[in-house]
Amino acid sequence: MPVLVMKFGGTSVATLDRIKRAAKRVGLEVAKGYDVIVIVSAMSGKTNELVGWVNETSPLYDAREYDAVVSSGENVTAGLMALTLQEMGVPARSWQGWQVPVKTTDAHANARIEEIPPENITAKFGEGMKVAVVAGFQGISPEGRITTLGRGGSDTTAVAFAAAFEAERCDIYTDVDGVYTTDPRISSKARKLHKISFEEMLELASLGAKVLQTRSVELAMRYKVKLRVLSSFEEPSDEAGTLVCDEEESMENRPVSGIAYSRDEAKMTLISVADRPGIAAAIFGPLSDAGVNVDMIIQNISEEGRTDMTFSCPTDQVLRAQKALNEAKANGDINFHDLVADTDVCKVSAVGIGMRSQSGVAAKMFKTLSDEGINIKVIATSEIKISVLIDRKYLELAVQSLHDAFELEKAT
Ligand code: ADP
Ligand code: ASP
Ligand code: MG
Repeated sequence: MPVLVMKFGGTSVATLDRIKRAAKRVGLEVAKGYDVIVIVSAMSGKTNELVGWVNETSPLYDAREYDAVVSSGENVTAGLMALTLQEMGVPARSWQGWQVPVKTTDAHANARIEEIPPENITAKFGEGMKVAVVAGFQGISPEGRITTLGRGGSDTTAVAFAAAFEAERCDIYTDVDGVYTTDPRISSKARKLHKISFEEMLELASLGAKVLQTRSVELAMRYKVKLRVLSSFEEPSDEAGTLVCDEEESMENRPVSGIAYSRDEAKMTLISVADRPGIAAAIFGPLSDAGVNVDMIIQNISEEGRTDMTFSCPTDQVLRAQKALNEAKANGDINFHDLVADTDVCKVSAVGIGMRSQSGVAAKMFKTLSDEGINIKVIATSEIKISVLIDRKYLELAVQSLHDAFELEKAT
């Protein structure tokens, strides 16, 4: 039988009624002759609540225990979905990550899937089971401990299953009906894209468009998974949603395909560090060891052998970063006068494969922000993206004015 993977995000399984609604969609695909693997998220809000409990209990928590707590939301929805399908007369069984097993690295809270042996689930399909419901977001480390895949990780579970089972398609059901030119919650002018290239989706995701987890796009690209994003609240149709696919010529015509943002950024500045060979390694080594995801970096002009070093990282890693840098200072590995954290910044990015061939995109972006009186604090660019760090209070304004400037309301 052909295999189909269907992933339901938190809002799509937020109540028993919604689980029923999702189960009905699964039933439709079973009726078409598919063996279906359903990946479920926790009920919406549940994972945030669990993360909150962990932080309240232990701000610099042991990530193994974080995973033990935070993975649990998906266990509930997996069981409930299997029960709902059984009530509908569809033979279904649930699996937690470790039961499959979803083998991951031991990078707790941010583990990567290494292997999903298909035998257990395939054997059950062979016995007449029609739906395997798998708890998303979780796996098992080589030491046998529960891991999680980073926030939004159920998307990655879904694509990894689609690759492992050579599924005909991987459908990501969410609360919007596809991938938009920007977050439709921020701009009413956002337009749904019928298709988007893997590369653009990868950038948008990594720059904050949380509709798909970055790693899920990477895997889909590598294993050529046919990936579709669609709404679980709209009537089923073959045309629905957005297809994430290889790039097509027409996509090159638009300089920018989307605007992404990340609200929870922090800008950290080390004031007056000695400007000597090895200083960057001495700063960023301990940060990396402490699990801080450093994003943008700037080193200012050096004066009298000393310089300021600025970097950005997620807001919830500021405590870790401060601890790591202060320890390095206490050990004598680095020497700085002060460490200033600005936690009121956000990152806004323009993404488009058309940037490779069209010039002037950066200039237009900076001019647009300047016309709105928005000061740019840090800039980073790559072949197909331009990102700026700005004050968080300007987030909506920046996204909307860039969306206008690049005429994204005309995108299709
Ligand atoms: P789920 O719980 O189904 O995984 P998420 O909340 O993780 O859903 O992702 C869907 C959300 O992503 C949407 O509600 C939307 O606000 C946000 N989003 C951000 N950028 C985009 C975009 N470019 N296109 C569509 N949705 C986006
Ligand atoms: N429940 C997890 C989260 O909220 C995983 C997911 O929904 O993809 O991050
Ligand atoms: Mg998600």
